[in-house]
Amino acid sequence: MTAAEQHQILIVGGGSGGVSVAARLRNLPNPPDVTIIEPSEHHYYQPLWTLVGAGLFDKEVTRRPQSDYIPDGAKWLKTRVTGFDPEQNAVLTEDGRRHTYQYLVVALGMQLDWHKIDGLAGNIGKNGICSNYAYETVDTTRTALNNFKSGNAVFTFPATPVKCAGAPQKIMYLADDVLRRAGKRDRARVIYAASGPAIFGVQKYARSLAKVVERKNIDTMYRHNLIAVDASKKQAIFKQLDRGEEVAVPFELLHVTPPQSAPDVVKQSRLANAEGWVDVHKHTLQHARYSNVFGLGDSSSLPTSRTGAAIRKQAPVLVANLQALREGRVMTASYDGYASCPLVTGIGKLILAEFDYDGKPVESFPFDQSQERFSMYMLKAYALPELYWNGMLRGRA
Ligand code: FAD
Repeated sequence: MTAAEQHQILIVGGGSGGVSVAARLRNLPNPPDVTIIEPSEHHYYQPLWTLVGAGLFDKEVTRRPQSDYIPDGAKWLKTRVTGFDPEQNAVLTEDGRRHTYQYLVVALGMQLDWHKIDGLAGNIGKNGICSNYAYETVDTTRTALNNFKSGNAVFTFPATPVKCAGAPQKIMYLADDVLRRAGKRDRARVIYAASGPAIFGVQKYARSLAKVVERKNIDTMYRHNLIAVDASKKQAIFKQLDRGEEVAVPFELLHVTPPQSAPDVVKQSRLANAEGWVDVHKHTLQHARYSNVFGLGDSSSLPTSRTGAAIRKQAPVLVANLQALREGRVMTASYDGYASCPLVTGIGKLILAEFDYDGKPVESFPFDQSQERFSMYMLKAYALPELYWNGMLRGRA
């Protein structure tokens, strides 16, 4: 072990949350020293993977060099965090180094637990099994749709929190349109098999989505959790969560949303709450036990929908409170749980859900956002990616 490297503000994870916070800190007058630990050469705009899976965009447009988004003046350590020692204000990395910090920001995203579905390993991309949930697999959805002949097209939602709770159903609505355009929809039974009890958690949008499901003639199987896949027999095995029985569903296409959890390195650390997430205060984003630690985004315990849109509102709150703490002032910035889910309901159609911790709609536009709109689809497909790359990641939006 080499001597500890000391950092003023250490950010772990250089995804949506980590880079947004770093940029805002570096934009301050008299900016502090900022170091980001991030192993990936690339930065990904994951929200567009829904449209990539439907064949509407190429996946390459969602990936850019990480080096272009490390803010000027910030230091990038291209390695992986392997442990936290918050009692000693220290972080350990894969390259055997120990880093100490005055302040730590944790933004490690979510872990995809593919291994929790028996028989899935090695089979994504084969026999109609596909998933939008990783850059490496997102093209398999387009291929499965192209190859579809007839039978069940099944879209799953696991019994865990997921990145963007709307994404498992958005790809289903797009798939319905893709199959219609290809003249194959009358040979398909489209099934939404979800662990939850309803189409969406916020009533106002759930009502509109229920109409979409009906119009598109989609069958729903609520309280069903995918536990195993028999790839050669093309069978998906679900557990019915109320009765405990197993239900086998044959498929021609199976879009898997994998179970997800906090990264193991967080779960195994003193930063975690009982469920494994970075244990932060839901309004200040400060850690519940370590006052010089903050957290945001998917790896945090914030009880809201895990989305980039939520992070856009979390980052300025975190930075304001971190600065207040550094300057010995009272922390006054407060996050209200805002999250947004652009619910694509077809090619050229979108319901823009926006809500807070209480599930109360907090809408940005002066019209009823629970209605499907072409303008909101254009916002998602073209305006929001620009806002992300040129606004949010630059600390300007
Ligand atoms: P990430 O952006 O995932 O970043 C985490 C970073 O941590 C990564 O760069 C990773 O390499 C790094 N990391 C991991 N482990 C370590 C380690 N041990 N050490 C150091 N670094 C590490 N959001 C929306 O707002 N709207 C949408 O429409 C939308 N649709 C989505 C559709 C799909 C299919 C998916 C997958 C996501 C979608 N999201 C959407 C969610 C959004 O992309 C995430 O909520 C957001 O990217 C989370 O940001 P984050 O910083 O918490 O994590």
